[in-house]
Amino acid sequence: MFSKIPFDRINWTTSSFLIVTFFTALIATPLYIAHFGIDFFQIALFVFFFIATGMSITLGYHRLFAHKSFKAGRTVKLTTLLFGAAAFEDSALDWASDHREHHKHVDDEHDDPYSISKGFFWAHMGWIFFKLYPRPLANVGDLKKDPLVMWQHRHHRALGFAVGMILPAVIGFLYGGWESALGAFLIAGVARLVCVQHCTFFINSLCHTIGKRPYDSSTSARDSWLMALFTFGEGYHNYHHSFQHDYRNGVKPWQWDPTKWAIWVLSKLGLATELRRVPEEKIVLAELREMKDRAAAQIASGSAWRFTCPTREKAYATLLELSQQLSEGYTELETAVSDRIKISREALSRWRQMSADVGEQLVLLRSLQAQPVMA
Ligand SMILES: [Zn+2]
Ligand SMILES: [Zn+2]
Repeated sequence: MFSKIPFDRINWTTSSFLIVTFFTALIATPLYIAHFGIDFFQIALFVFFFIATGMSITLGYHRLFAHKSFKAGRTVKLTTLLFGAAAFEDSALDWASDHREHHKHVDDEHDDPYSISKGFFWAHMGWIFFKLYPRPLANVGDLKKDPLVMWQHRHHRALGFAVGMILPAVIGFLYGGWESALGAFLIAGVARLVCVQHCTFFINSLCHTIGKRPYDSSTSARDSWLMALFTFGEGYHNYHHSFQHDYRNGVKPWQWDPTKWAIWVLSKLGLATELRRVPEEKIVLAELREMKDRAAAQIASGSAWRFTCPTREKAYATLLELSQQLSEGYTELETAVSDRIKISREALSRWRQMSADVGEQLVLLRSLQAQPVMA
C-alpha cells in the first residue's frame, strides 16, 4: 500500500505542520472548550482572524498578486501579505507561481500542480506533502520586482507565526490572562488556520468536482454557490477559469462574492484602482457557446431515440429549432464582439433568454429520455 509513496520527495516540514495543526484543532481545541468554555470574545476573535486571513488569500494572494485583476498600493499589499502569511499557505510569490501553473495547465497530470485528474485528495492537499519540482518561479517575474512581495517571501514563516499565532494569543492575554491567551491561540490561531486552509483547498478539490459549468465545460472547473459561501466568493470557479483576470468570481450581481465587494469598496476608498472586468457581451458569448455545444451534443446523441414516441419527437424538433436560433444568435453576437459594435442591454437579455430556452428544453429532453416509452 505504501510502496507507491515517493518517500524521498516528502516535504517533512510542511507535512508535519499540516498534521500537527490539524490534530491540535481536532483534539486540543474541543478539550479547551469543554474545560474552560467559550465566550463571545473568543468567537469574535476567531471570526476576525478567519475573515482577515481568508480574505488576504482571496483578495491578496489570488486576485491581486496571482491574477493582477486590480492594482493596489502599499496599504492593501502589506495588509494582505501579513495576514496572508498567517494562513500558512506559503509566500505570496510561491502561491502565485503554483496558481499560475494551475491555470495554464489545468487538469494536466504533470504540469498542473494540483490537478484533479490525480484524484480528489491529491488536488485537495496531497500535493502539498511532496516537493514537486523546483518551483517555476519564471512565471512570477513581475512579482519578483515588488520589494514588499520579496520581503514577505523571505520572512513568511516568521510573519505567519507572529500574526497568525502569537498576535491572537497576546490579544487573548490582554483580555483575560493566560487562560484566555491559550484559548485565543487554539481557537483564533490554530483552529482558524486549519479552517482557512481547508476552505482554500476545497477550491482545488470540490470546485473541480461538484457544480455547474455554464461558461466552459472543457475543463473540470465548476461554479458552486455552496463553496462560494465558505470561500469569500471563490466558488464560482468555472467563471474564474474562463475569465481569470476579472476581479469578480461571482459575476452576477446576486452571486455571493464578498471578495469582489471588498475590492469594489477599496476602489471607492481610493485604495484599489484599475479593476478589470470582462465586458458583458463576452460573458454572454461564452454562455451561448457552451449552450450551443450542449444542444449539438444532445441532438447528435438523440437522433435515433427521437422516433421512439411522438412526445419525444416533438420535444426533439423544438430543440432543433431553438438550437438553430441560438446558433444564429451566437454568430451575430460573435461578429458584433469581434467588430467591437456596441450591443444594447435588450439584445444581450434576448440572447440570454434564447440560451435559457435551450437549457429548459435540454432538461425536458433528459427527463423524457429517463421515462419509459409510451405506446
Ligand atoms: Zn482551479
Ligand atoms: Zn485563479
